[in-house]
Amino acid sequence: MTAHAQHIIVIGAGIGGLAAALALQRRGFKVSVYERGAEIREFGAGVVIAPNARRALRDLGVDEALAQLSASAPLIHTCVYNTGEIIRTDRNDAIAEKQGMGVLQVHRGDLHGLLLQAVQANDPGAVHAGHTFVALEQDKSGVSVAFANGARRRGDAVIGADGNASAVRTFLFPGENPKFTGQVAFRALVPDALCPPVVRERGSAMYQGPRRYLLHYPLRGGRIMNLIGCGQALAWEEEGWAIPATNEEFLHHYSDYAPELLELIRSVPPGELFKWGLRDREPLATWTQGRVAMLGDAAHPMLPFLGQGACMALEDALVLGRAFAAARTIDEALARYEAARRTRGTNVQLWTREEGKTLQDPTRKRYTALDRGLFDYDPATVSV
Ligand SMILES: Cc1cc2nc3c(=O)[nH]c(=O)nc-3n(C[C@H](O)[C@H](O)[C@H](O)COP(=O)(O)OP(=O)(O)OC[C@H]3O[C@@H](n4cnc5c(N)ncnc54)[C@H](O)[C@@H]3O)c2cc1C
Repeated sequence: MTAHAQHIIVIGAGIGGLAAALALQRRGFKVSVYERGAEIREFGAGVVIAPNARRALRDLGVDEALAQLSASAPLIHTCVYNTGEIIRTDRNDAIAEKQGMGVLQVHRGDLHGLLLQAVQANDPGAVHAGHTFVALEQDKSGVSVAFANGARRRGDAVIGADGNASAVRTFLFPGENPKFTGQVAFRALVPDALCPPVVRERGSAMYQGPRRYLLHYPLRGGRIMNLIGCGQALAWEEEGWAIPATNEEFLHHYSDYAPELLELIRSVPPGELFKWGLRDREPLATWTQGRVAMLGDAAHPMLPFLGQGACMALEDALVLGRAFAAARTIDEALARYEAARRTRGTNVQLWTREEGKTLQDPTRKRYTALDRGLFDYDPATVSV
């Protein structure tokens, strides 16, 4: 397959879609990314980028710049939810010593911005906003994609990187839709100066409580604290993950948490608190149909409990690029990609569900991504 003669269409300009575009571009492929949003941007929130994903970013040439913009909390604590007592501490320097690099706490906008910049530096016309995927048709020589704005584009292959409610996935495998998990999450960014001193000192900490957990960690060199709370809810109707929430509503769910955590919730500035209902889909028997494959949450919708959703999308992206570079045909490239990735994607998806139960039950022992050996994976060298 002559790379520069192949045109790959990517649906979705999230972290997975942009990383896939970059991995393919760096191997000589022409890539067009189509995003439904009117602008190409990420929401303000944190994301943990572990060594397994940093290896993908290093290969993509953005890890160093990301590390400069991020935080790298020296200690990662697990605490008792109603007293704040520290019961487990993972040392980031010990992780770095074993893995060659530590865990980064990252503002999603910073990671997304670096990927976008790199894709556009390779090809200023690669990314197109305002294109909502609605349908596709494939034949022996390529794939035609139709968008809600009436545009049609043709490519040699299509990668569906359109998130956990993926329209590409629903188009390929109709009748299999995301389901509400019975869990609602809150998220906020709190300026460091507003955080209670004990919270600032702990830096990165997880608090497992009955039917809920709370997590905070620093971003941007410690200037902002990212706060996440996740608990159970009876019903959830609204779509989207940026639904405004109030401090009172958040506090109501956490009233038996340690006083400094209630103070942290109270310190969230107005307009900075959001909630979203967690949705999940069942693992698929295949991620590929003809010249179309899925990647990231579209392939393996990831609940947030192991902090590996974006990491898995980044692993997928690099392996996809390597699979295309190694293959003679599109069919072979997609088969190599799926063979290298599906077992890991499915396992992590299922382990994440399991960890979700633990995080909402303080009597259960945590098995973090580190405990499960997920950091050891290297998408730059794994066999494709
Ligand atoms: C805004 C956001 C915040 C998140 N926050 C957290 C978190 O704090 N912790 C955590 O563990 N997980 C979180 N997740 C999930 C986690 O980050 C994901 O596992 C990770 O982002 C997967 O990346 P992705 O590129 O596969 O999907 P996404 O990041 O969901 O990106 C998909 C992209 O596709 C676009 N798109 C969707 N439908 C269409 C369509 N029909 N046509 C064209 N484009 C389309 C979307 O607008 C989006 O830009 C979040 C997801 C999102 C979208």
